[in-house]
Amino acid sequence: MKYKRSLLKLSGEALMGNNEFGFHYNRLKQYAEEVKQVVDMGGQVAIVIGGGNIFRGFTTSKKEEKTINRIEGDYMGMLATVINGIAFQSYLENVGICTYIQTAIRMDQIAEPFGKDRAIRHLEKGRVVIFVAGLGNPYFTTDTAAVLRAIEINADVLLKGTKVDGIYTTDPEKDKFAKKLKNISFDMVYKMGIKVMDQTAFILGNENNLPIVIFDINRKENFKKLVSGEEIGTLVYKN
Ligand code: UDP
Repeated sequence: MKYKRSLLKLSGEALMGNNEFGFHYNRLKQYAEEVKQVVDMGGQVAIVIGGGNIFRGFTTSKKEEKTINRIEGDYMGMLATVINGIAFQSYLENVGICTYIQTAIRMDQIAEPFGKDRAIRHLEKGRVVIFVAGLGNPYFTTDTAAVLRAIEINADVLLKGTKVDGIYTTDPEKDKFAKKLKNISFDMVYKMGIKVMDQTAFILGNENNLPIVIFDINRKENFKKLVSGEEIGTLVYKN
């Protein structure tokens, strides 16, 4: 196994599938099965879950949502990740995986407070840990939370599951000559202005030498293949 301990970032968008809002339940089921495959192989899996399928603090486009201030909106976004975390926990438990939720905002009835030592202990026992509420601070994203948590729990890699299968030279939806990159350095990611994750997340990953793989989460067995060492998606590395 190439990556014994991985941190999987699941965006709200991934949970939403082709719906406009909320959950696509078959997707949740599929992701739970993907995680199970890795756990069954002896892989340690921690998950950071997004909230964009329910609420995003800064990109509220609808008129009525404009009355919500940024900071309050960000807290709503963080709470959205908690809802997603609880939902995904059920799906994981349904496939037989013991799953703990750890939250960056205390809510003791629902989840443990975040603690790296306890998280690592869960992972070592074959349990999955879902980190929710992002970093617990407004003006951040769950991608940045994913990088930070990955570093804190000493994960071997951050695997960001998205709808696209990697990083392209240009936008593949607009340019038919767009080429997929097998790998790219953090420096080039900055230079090319690649926005698949926010800059804060990339900077933190670069400074702490955390490899990040962007991959298509909807293609079956991709997670397992990646953890096993197959070259899938695009690897972002420090040079
Ligand atoms: N958020 C935040 N601080 C954090 C993480 C998230 O304020 O540390 C808020 C922010 O408003 C964000 C929302 O929660 O828009 C949902 O998170 P994100 O957009 O990262 O979710 P994803 O794109 O992965 O679905």
